[in-house]
Amino acid sequence: MAAGDSFSVTTPIFYVNDAPHIGHAYTEVAADVLARWHRQSGVPTWSLTGTDEHGQKILRTAVANGVTPKEWADKLVADAWIPLLKTIDIANDDFIRTTEERHESVVQQFLQKLYDDGLIYDGEYEGYYCVGCEEYKQQSDLVDGTGEFAGQYVCPIHGRPVEVLKEKNYFFRMSQFQQRLLDLYESQPDFIQPDSLRNEIVSFVRRGLDDLSISRQSFDWGVRVPWDDKHVVYVWFDALINYISALGWRPDAPAELFDRFWPSNHIVGKDIARFHAVIWPAMLMAADLPVPRRVFGHGWLLVGGEKMSKSKLTGIAPSQITDVFGSDAFRYYFMRAIAFGQDGSFSWEDLAARYQAELANGFGNLASRVVAMVGRYCDGVVPEAGAASEAEAGIQRTVADAVGTASAAIDRFAISDSIAAVWSIVDELNGYLTVQEPWKVAKDDSQTERLHTILYTAAEGLRALAVLLSPVLPQATQKLWAALGAEPHLGALADQRIPDAGEWGQLPAGARTQALEALFPRIDHEATA
Ligand SMILES: [Zn+2]
Repeated sequence: MAAGDSFSVTTPIFYVNDAPHIGHAYTEVAADVLARWHRQSGVPTWSLTGTDEHGQKILRTAVANGVTPKEWADKLVADAWIPLLKTIDIANDDFIRTTEERHESVVQQFLQKLYDDGLIYDGEYEGYYCVGCEEYKQQSDLVDGTGEFAGQYVCPIHGRPVEVLKEKNYFFRMSQFQQRLLDLYESQPDFIQPDSLRNEIVSFVRRGLDDLSISRQSFDWGVRVPWDDKHVVYVWFDALINYISALGWRPDAPAELFDRFWPSNHIVGKDIARFHAVIWPAMLMAADLPVPRRVFGHGWLLVGGEKMSKSKLTGIAPSQITDVFGSDAFRYYFMRAIAFGQDGSFSWEDLAARYQAELANGFGNLASRVVAMVGRYCDGVVPEAGAASEAEAGIQRTVADAVGTASAAIDRFAISDSIAAVWSIVDELNGYLTVQEPWKVAKDDSQTERLHTILYTAAEGLRALAVLLSPVLPQATQKLWAALGAEPHLGALADQRIPDAGEWGQLPAGARTQALEALFPRIDHEATA
């Protein structure tokens, strides 16, 4: 029972050659929001992240730091990559490292199966290789070097000369899968998203596919080729298999997680979409396994117009943002401000402005005001609503519509649109309070029922918001859930279901509210300077 009955999402596994920057955190948060949304919708969900620890790049980084590659990987995972997940509040189900035995043994079994089926042969590779990309390059991928690199071919991504390789390698018969890949892109139009990326991949595959060199023998930091231990497996061929090794796949053996959760949705940066949308499905076809459910390539984060990366000195550590604004704000900002799939610019000014306008003044202030008024006018007990006017009916419609619109957006991985749909409730409720002026109604003793109707409507709207925003703002919504006094009546926030969130009237009259600290406190201007 896969696809439809369950939801599974992966991030790329990240190279441990360096510490994470906000580009990595962006990918992690997107996958986490999708996973949390599905979990909160009652769908069996599984989310995977991890680290890619083999290959020449890591070997060289370790050597340069005077340690073994495994020592280097252990240190980076413990000091940087696992802590990253805490920093930005990721609720992953598994974390896989490609140096784990559970992974390496599956890589060997997968390879052996393809070798036994005649899909791997030995040959001679002669061509270019970028260690920074860990990728074989065609001459057409490269640019002419200038200055100190004059006369050499340079990788346009890394700005450094590529290496010329001439090695006896093993090759995967990828060229055999060209037509099947094109058929896949045709029959499953959302296999690669967004469409711009799909078009790019389709025309790349239409131009023809070469067989793929899948082993190296000039260094030894990798998984050994099982029938020839002079070779280690090409790092990408090794790494891609993590998506099924983590699910416990084995050839010719049942695997409960694999049966339940494969095929997964892969969230990747658009620069590695070819590996995921061409090489990986070809590998799976070769092994007679189902291809991924979807490969979604997100855009670049730009800082001052440049792609985020440490090598370009624009790297920002996620904790620099969360230390000031908190993890909820980090999650909200990147998911809301950037249309998922497109490039987006990060700036501290934009982050600070959205924090103040949308989180503090929009949502946070709404929550504080409503809880405070229930405290002041109703002794901290959610009142019984009287007859609903057109204004209350409008709020109920807004909530119901937001659930449907937001869910449909999530199905397309349009995370920003989904948040915008939910935010219509925030805006409507703020407008409703401005028009209804409960603080004035409270001064008229003959209008108690009207006051109660207004406050109930606002509190019940917050109940729906807590559920719908929990995938993006897990900490703030938990505080709000407690402040509304919902838990003794409705159960834990985690047990609320998004598809039911629009059903009006769930928060019972009589629920006891608790004081609510500011969900998004004021930030000192000096802190962001
Ligand atoms: Zn490169």
